[in-house]
Amino acid sequence: MKEQTQILHSIPVDPLTGSISTPIYQTSTFVQEAPGVHKGYDYARSNNPTRKVLEDCIAKLENGTNGYAFASGLAAIDAVIKLLEAGDEVIAVDDIYGGAFRLFTHIYQKFGISIKYVDSTNSANIAAAVTDKTKLIWIESPTNPTLKISDIRAIAQIAKANKVLLCVDNTFASPAAQKPIDLGADIVVHSATKYLAGHSDIIAGLVVTATQELGDKIKFIQNASGAILGPFDSWLAIRGIETLTLRIKQHSENAQKIAEFLLEEKLIKNVYYPGLPSHHNHEIAKSQQKYFGGVIAFDLVIDDKEIASQIVSSTKLFKLAESLGGVKSLCCLPCEMTHKSIPAEKRYSSGVTDSLIRLSVGLEDADDLIDDLKQAIEAAVKQSAEKNTVTA
Ligand SMILES: *Cc1c(COP(=O)(O)O)cnc(C)c1O
Repeated sequence: MKEQTQILHSIPVDPLTGSISTPIYQTSTFVQEAPGVHKGYDYARSNNPTRKVLEDCIAKLENGTNGYAFASGLAAIDAVIKLLEAGDEVIAVDDIYGGAFRLFTHIYQKFGISIKYVDSTNSANIAAAVTDKTKLIWIESPTNPTLKISDIRAIAQIAKANKVLLCVDNTFASPAAQKPIDLGADIVVHSATKYLAGHSDIIAGLVVTATQELGDKIKFIQNASGAILGPFDSWLAIRGIETLTLRIKQHSENAQKIAEFLLEEKLIKNVYYPGLPSHHNHEIAKSQQKYFGGVIAFDLVIDDKEIASQIVSSTKLFKLAESLGGVKSLCCLPCEMTHKSIPAEKRYSSGVTDSLIRLSVGLEDADDLIDDLKQAIEAAVKQSAEKNTVTA
């Protein structure tokens, strides 16, 4: 069976009533027949039937053994870090999601877990950073916002050779485009807030493990720490996943067209999109991703924050907002928004210049989105020309 068929039919018909839509079990507890005798559910933090459908579904989609749903992507990341102990070392991608950086550096470092950040686009950097204290390698591919790609297969081999766990944050690609466990990863995490739920309407996180043993450990942490996803949000995530493959196909097709349009614009310096042959890691992306996704970043020939700001404020279809992965297109200026807390030097070195704009390409018609960008860029060019005349 093809994946889209599998996804739809892995979401079971409710065995109790035949309801084709998964029921929302909005309950905190379950009545027992005798002490300890129940239908597999005793208390809703430990287990909830709606959440279970989502957890089984994401496990299947990622070709893992177990899936677990959390209150946010960060809660999912937090659960994975809790596999470690004081004294352990993590090697993480230097372009890491800002929230993960904050969690690793400002929370876990004080509990004795040390983090080394390396450029993982060159796998040799990871191999060189491994010590006998390393317990976990943490990568994202593609990264945010400049869409750097790491060779997951090669890094998985390094992890295996050193008996270190490899966790991949698969948020940007989604399992419709990339399956890290098939490439050798031990754990996959998601901010389901983005493509999986897909409609910009919930905050949610998921963890998938490659083995039952790791799954049992995450399950223990999920119940012990308690950052579970509620039944209604679990239902929304299931509903989103039902159309994931279709959406990712269209997001990617739209983004490819838009990236090719941006390449031709004189005002634009770099266009970052893994689907472009000019992208530094295009070949690796092609070897591990089925689709290139809906996120594009670009910066301007004149690295001027004001002009970039003018562009993201003049688009009409692309709404100015943080986040990504929804059906409606969004744009943002990372230096003033998602990446504002990162020191300028560190920001520049990872390509996040003052004029870098990130697009989350939605499911509107690509031609309308291109027209929207055209008019916003023209307005900004005109304004900058006027500004130059005034100052000249
Ligand atoms: C958004 C995001 C997260 C955090 O997820 P939340 O659901 O916002 O907690 C983690 N990793 C990546 C790559 C993200 O884009």
